Amino acid sequence: MTEGNGGQNGRQGEYVTLNWGCTRCGYRVEGAPPEQCPECGAGKEDFDEVPIPGF
Ligand SMILES: [Zn+2]
Repeated sequence: MTEGNGGQNGRQGEYVTLNWGCTRCGYRVEGAPPEQCPECGAGKEDFDEVPIPGF
């Protein structure tokens, strides 16, 4: 028996890019929310998911 990871199931064909926007200052970041907003210093709890319009 071979135990390898030959079957990696991923969501293919559905690439969703998320933007995160700071609810305090409006700073936006693409991908994942930072630990802290570089603009106003808010935590990532203050970041909201923002869908990218027109993409
Ligand atoms: Zn901010």
